[in-house]
Amino acid sequence: MSPRRARRRGPFERPDGRAARPVGASVSGVDRVESAPDGEWVVRNVSGATQGKAYRCPGCEQEITPGLPHVVSWPAWSGGEDERRHWHTACWRNRVNRGPGRSRY
Ligand SMILES: [Zn+2]
Repeated sequence: MSPRRARRRGPFERPDGRAARPVGASVSGVDRVESAPDGEWVVRNVSGATQGKAYRCPGCEQEITPGLPHVVSWPAWSGGEDERRHWHTACWRNRVNRGPGRSRY
């Protein structure tokens, strides 16, 4: 079982983009790939312990307090890392539960 290699059917995937920047290669065992109605997402748990910056959660439009454990996610296709977003862990869960009505494409 190697979900990190399950790179399939990304709408933005390019035939020549396969070798570009393996997702999460430097933090093996932390990232995971989740399937959602709007595609596959790489999700990373962030302890927040060393973060000094507040991020705005796209789920609830509230700030993620510095130091608060949360998740970072980005699309699991080539180049998706450029769209990294910081989410409250609960908001990330709720995003999936909201269903396919919020498809991004
Ligand atoms: Zn939130």
